[in-house]
Amino acid sequence: MIIKPKYRGFICTTVHPMGCRKNIWDQIEYIKSKGKIDGPKRVLVIGSSTGYGLASRIAAAYGFSATTIGVFFEKPGTDCKTGSAGWYNNRFFEAQAKKDGLDAAHVNGDAFSRDVKTQTIDMIKDFMPDGKVDLIVYSLAAPKRKDFGADRIYNSVIKPVGSAFTAKTVDFHTGKVTDISIAPAQDDEIMETVAVMGGEDWKLWVNDLARAGTLAAGAETMAFSYIGPSVTHAIYKDGTIGRGKADLEVKSKEIGDELSGIGGRSFISINKAVVTQASSAIPVVPLYMSLLFKVMKEKGLHENCIEQMYRLFSEKLYNGSEVITDETGRLRMDDFEMREDVQSEVTRLWGAVDSDNIYRLSDLEGFRNDFFKLFGFARDDVDYEADVDVEVML
Ligand code: NAD
Repeated sequence: MIIKPKYRGFICTTVHPMGCRKNIWDQIEYIKSKGKIDGPKRVLVIGSSTGYGLASRIAAAYGFSATTIGVFFEKPGTDCKTGSAGWYNNRFFEAQAKKDGLDAAHVNGDAFSRDVKTQTIDMIKDFMPDGKVDLIVYSLAAPKRKDFGADRIYNSVIKPVGSAFTAKTVDFHTGKVTDISIAPAQDDEIMETVAVMGGEDWKLWVNDLARAGTLAAGAETMAFSYIGPSVTHAIYKDGTIGRGKADLEVKSKEIGDELSGIGGRSFISINKAVVTQASSAIPVVPLYMSLLFKVMKEKGLHENCIEQMYRLFSEKLYNGSEVITDETGRLRMDDFEMREDVQSEVTRLWGAVDSDNIYRLSDLEGFRNDFFKLFGFARDDVDYEADVDVEVML
């Protein structure tokens, strides 16, 4: 099959396996080019096939030679349809890890289900040295959650809370800047978004792992959040997703209290805005990111998932001394993004940007490139005219 990108809005319905393979190799090479980290040797990543979860898994495997188990929800290719990017990412990561002498296994299924939790616990017992994990990274970004107990589905929405919100946004395919107005969420939409993006399921995972005796002494866990600048607050930090993230922080404290019994800890890492399948779906954020990337690239501060995860492990968590957090106990990987000089320049550009000057004032090109790269496109080292086997099984 010859595969070309087919997209609508923030969804690309085709994926190029060879591009995904190169994306994986790039991330592995990046970690190999950095120094080794004295980190934990048994790592479970929930949401490990794309974005921050994938990068944390690669950083753990190649940065501290960890045995990793990844959990994700992805589709393989068929004879007429490409698989999902995360499916190829995982295939190529695990194939390369095995070649490099690193143990890696996975569970593909709905992480919210009891069944996948049970399968993962069984795999930890069989596959992890001594049948235990030292670090659990919880990196799910899901549009919905099936509550198997109550037999209902919760849908997450991206809406402001309290009052309507109007702001600039960009169609990142055309460069057209317009105003978007979003009505505030209803109470049940807020509740459902918290059920999907909050910390309840994270806590269930840790409780199940503990009950099964699969947590090593001193086991730690971590989930990711975002704060961002005031232009995005109504749609993110103070919106429905922000409510989910506030719940994640509450649950992190509860999980930390429970883990303290075995000398363990729970962390929230506030990460930088990067292009992922989850973040490109949020209105307003692509325009903010395009401006941010321009400023951060000019200042030599720009990072993607893999640079963020390497720095998180090497400088904040496993630096050989104390874990470095802010005064509220969060790991701050948005430290460069939120620097005063970066944000004041982004604010200035935000005021001036429109459809006519967007390519001059922002890095929309870079944003779009990152978007297509998520699906294995936009690489100059892949022959996109070549026939590829989309059912690739390695
Ligand atoms: P992503 O879309 O790249 O990754 C989501 C992962 O979750 C994938 O591995 C996917 O397979 C998995 N997943 C989704 N639903 C699942 C299910 N039901 N069962 C099993 N696996 C499932 O997202 P991302 O942007 O890397 O987000 C990961 C975390 O990082 C989220 O908590 C997000 O809020 C946070 N974060 C993202 C950004 C950003 O800019 N992208 C910034 C800060 C924090």
